[in-house]
Parts: sequence; C-alpha cells; structure tokens
Amino acid sequence: MSIQGNIKFIQAQLHLGVELVCVSKFHPVSALQEAYDGGQRIFGESKVQELCDKHEQLPNDIEWHFIGHLQTNKVKFIAPFVSLIHGVDSEKLLQEINRQGEKLNRVIPCLLQVHIAQEETKFGFSPEELSAWFCVSKSQDYPFVQICGLMGMASYTENQTQIHAEFRVLKTLFENLKLNYFSSEAYFKELSIGMSGDYQIAMQEGSTLVRIGSAIFGPRLY
Ligand SMILES: *Cc1c(COP(=O)(O)O)cnc(C)c1O
Repeated sequence: MSIQGNIKFIQAQLHLGVELVCVSKFHPVSALQEAYDGGQRIFGESKVQELCDKHEQLPNDIEWHFIGHLQTNKVKFIAPFVSLIHGVDSEKLLQEINRQGEKLNRVIPCLLQVHIAQEETKFGFSPEELSAWFCVSKSQDYPFVQICGLMGMASYTENQTQIHAEFRVLKTLFENLKLNYFSSEAYFKELSIGMSGDYQIAMQEGSTLVRIGSAIFGPRLY
C-alpha cells in the first residue's frame, strides 16, 4: 500500500480522541510531503538536526513532535517551534526546556517519559521516582513548561499480557497525577503510548497519542 493508504488504514482504526503522530524519522522529505498531501499534519522525529532540516523544508502548518532522547544542549534548536516534546526524562532537561522557553517567552508543551518496559535501555523516570518527585516539586516551578501528560514504551515482546500490564502501569500513574496535581488543568490529558506493533493494545489501555512509523513508511534504513 501507499503511504497515504497506510495512514488512512490506521486512521480508520483510531479510537475516538486518539491522534496519530506520524513517525517520519530516517525518511526523506518527499515521503513526509506525500503524507502531508494526504492530510497528515502531526509528525514525530527523534533527531534534532533532522527535525530542524525537515521543519525548514516542509509547510509551516505541520505540528512537529520530538519523540526521541533529547540532549539538554540541543533544546535551544527546537524550542522555537516544537509542538510537543514527548520524552522528557530528567529534571535537568525540564530545567533547560524551561530556560529556553523563558528566553523565547514561549510555554513549551511536554510529556514526561516513564520507564515501564522490562528492558534496561529505555530512558525515563521510574513510576516511583515520578510520584516522589511530584510530592516535593511542583509543575509551577517550571512556568515555561506545560506538562501535558505522560509517554512510555512497552517491552519489545510478543507477550500481549505483558504489554497490556506495562501500559496499565502508565495509565494508573497518569490518573493518580491527574487527581492529585492536575485536577483543574485541562491540558494534562495526553497519554502517548502505542507504536506500529502495539497501538491496538495501547488504545485499549487509554492512549491519546499513538506514535507510528514503520506501519506507515515501511522499515527504516539506518
Ligand atoms: C521510532 C519510534 C516510534 C515508531 O516506531 P514504529 O515501530 O516504527 O512505529 C515510536 N516512538 C518512539 C519513541 C520512537 O523512537
């Protein structure tokens, strides 16, 4: 199928209130243009340089999401235009995003990344760390950051029960934070879970943003 056909196929399966982040990393501008021409407006990239290059070359009504591991020294390059940073995984990074937001007088929407997978390599806060952090710190400490929700990645496994359980940990944490710290904040509403292999499960567990790459563009050539 074509890129546009794949997007239509996925869009047709999305639950109400779920948005598609089209993960275009490693794919050429022409592929993104094709998706754009089919109506796709939200794109996700995981490298700062690549994101900046594509942002310059493509139409300016695209919402650019940063979905990768963000180094603090590179925040300044995406701060002026990024629509949502999915992977905020340290307090140091939060501070730097706030600093850049202040310089630009721009509040930058972010998601906190939570480590829910069994695998060692995935970045993020542990659920315990995040709960503890919210007890002592306040999101008001970062006036130029808007914490819009949480993001996570399940283990890369065939075990569907495990994937359900991992996503459920994140959903529960999300509900707890919402109740305790964001009850009057309408913007705290995003749960970014679900990729090509597990977005159906993620939607069953309450995803509001699915980040899908290879099911749209085919395999990435690194
Ligand atoms: C690459 C990537 C995706 C998309 O993965 P696919 O399996 O190709 O859909 C989603 N989320 C993050 C954080 C990624 O790095």
